[in-house]
Amino acid sequence: MFTHSMRRFFYDPVHETADCVLISGAEAHHLRAVLRMRLGETAELFDGSGRILSGQIEQISPDSVTFRILARRQEPESRSPLTLALAFLKGKKMDMVVQKATELGVHRFLPLVTRYCEPQGKDHQLLDRWQRIMLEACKQCGRPVPMQLSQPLPFQEVAWPADSRKIIAWENETTCSLAALGLEAGNPVVLLIGPEGGFHPTEVEHAKTCGFNTISLGPRILRAETAALTAVVLAQQAVGNLEP
Ligand code: SAM
Repeated sequence: MFTHSMRRFFYDPVHETADCVLISGAEAHHLRAVLRMRLGETAELFDGSGRILSGQIEQISPDSVTFRILARRQEPESRSPLTLALAFLKGKKMDMVVQKATELGVHRFLPLVTRYCEPQGKDHQLLDRWQRIMLEACKQCGRPVPMQLSQPLPFQEVAWPADSRKIIAWENETTCSLAALGLEAGNPVVLLIGPEGGFHPTEVEHAKTCGFNTISLGPRILRAETAALTAVVLAQQAVGNLEP
């Protein structure tokens, strides 16, 4: 019933009844006018909470599509939620990281303002754009629970969660790797990655006082977006979030 190849759409749970769900707006337009799906075709429907419906198109009207619900299931929450805290990067790099972080199962994305970076637009416009990119990525990769997008914050003002393993990638760390931290399944993790110009030494000190461990991502200086995605993969692997 549920397969990786089925088309996926988001729905608003207020439009769900015991038997049917109605899709409207941009999702209905995409389904009807772009993909030209027909009566009787099937798709998976997400509401963003982890609930997944399998449905069959029962009715198509100019501005909505009605699915008959064939099956329901609930995706379990990740046991080891990963937060990626990333200083603002220039151009379209944040967009790219948002997309890839969604695919890689990052739980929460927290954009930061640090000494050597600047926000690349107004918060609400950036968040709207990232929300669209993130939801598209969810549909494409079959992720039923969207990544949380946090409001951008100045680095010094973040209240870091006490119960998480906190890790800062720092190119001047010469000994400790992420693997050496011994992360385990069930550990919530926060990863902190600097901007193109890196962290100021006082920012690294501040992170340490907040309980962050510095790690190296190897002997080469990676671009910030490469560092972010490398650290995400290593952390997700370590806590078991990349298991089949
Ligand atoms: N400060 C440097 C500079 O201006 O040349 C490099 C900054 S680097 C391009 C951007 C961010 O990626 C860093 O702040 C760090 O978080 C991360 N990073 C890059 N290479 C790294 C490495 N080898 N080990 C750990 N972190 C790294």
